Amino acid sequence: MKLKSLGLASILLVACGDSSSQEASSVETAKKQPDNSIAVLQYHHVSETTPAVTSITPKQFKQHLDYLEENEFSVLSIEQAHQRIENDEGFPDKAVVITFDDGYDNVFEHAAPLLADYDMPYAVFVNPDLMKESPSAYMSWEQLKQIQQQGATIVNHGQTHAHLIRRRASETEEQWRERMHYDVISAQQAIDAKLGEQPKYFAYPYGEYDAELQNLLDEWGFLGFAQHSGPWSPYSDKTAITRFPASGIYANLKTLDAKLKSRALPVADYKPSEPLIAYDDERPTLRVTLAHTDGLQQKALRCFQGTDVLQPTWQDELTFSVKPKENLPIGRSRINCTAPADAGTPYYWFSAAFIRPDAEGSWPD
Ligand SMILES: [Zn+2]
Repeated sequence: MKLKSLGLASILLVACGDSSSQEASSVETAKKQPDNSIAVLQYHHVSETTPAVTSITPKQFKQHLDYLEENEFSVLSIEQAHQRIENDEGFPDKAVVITFDDGYDNVFEHAAPLLADYDMPYAVFVNPDLMKESPSAYMSWEQLKQIQQQGATIVNHGQTHAHLIRRRASETEEQWRERMHYDVISAQQAIDAKLGEQPKYFAYPYGEYDAELQNLLDEWGFLGFAQHSGPWSPYSDKTAITRFPASGIYANLKTLDAKLKSRALPVADYKPSEPLIAYDDERPTLRVTLAHTDGLQQKALRCFQGTDVLQPTWQDELTFSVKPKENLPIGRSRINCTAPADAGTPYYWFSAAFIRPDAEGSWPD
């Protein structure tokens, strides 16, 4: 849904090609696909004392910024990246957006001063109701205003950080929509009232969404940011934009390096298109249709689920499917697919998110 499957690559080739490449053979053009992707890093805590799985230490965080600087990454604001994607302008070879979820006070203490020093823009997704409830854990409006003046964009993570797609007992569709309206729209109103009108970008709490919530965001004019991996590109679903987690075990620069340099697999369509599956759908088939295979080593495309490597079955030149070897775990999981490039950039990347509820329709945080 909402994927751009038009001949985007060819448009970009013309738009970005220099005069010599316009006459290049198809082999040469395949080697030099223009870069239409940008990696979006997702952080939470920047602290030594918070839960390891959602934290990076201040020292590691500085190493990340040093790495970006030494390797000459263009650090774009989230609005700049959005604009380039909307206009199919492409990106410099190495480009990145930095984001933080939840707006913890340790981001103000440990990350904001460094980002100001390095003159790098970033986005912080905040939960206004939680800021009211636990002021000591989160940045205040005053602090948010301060970092906004230093180049941060303050955006929407919902009022309450609830599991939005989990319907409450006997909740009607109408009541659920009202609850979503409160969580998304009133949070945006709170942000705009305190900080001036901000772009309508919403990061799903826990990265959880379904087709109904995507439709609401679309109706209300929001982009939706998820938490499964992959670069952001014109192929991204506007209400399921992927980001690379960079906390906990994912903070390792050796593994982050390939992700930062990856490009979006040109996915025109995939099924299931929404993450929530049935409890008894233990091993769902993922079916992916590519817009083209230019620039990538199609035969070397592989998918990964947990520690399992999944060999794709090709239905035709552009469509493949994979099936997990084991039952998907209860809760959130993903299937990642990557293919090496013909030349240059290390990997093309795509990820599909899954949420498998337990028999009672619930799942862990
Ligand atoms: Zn969060």
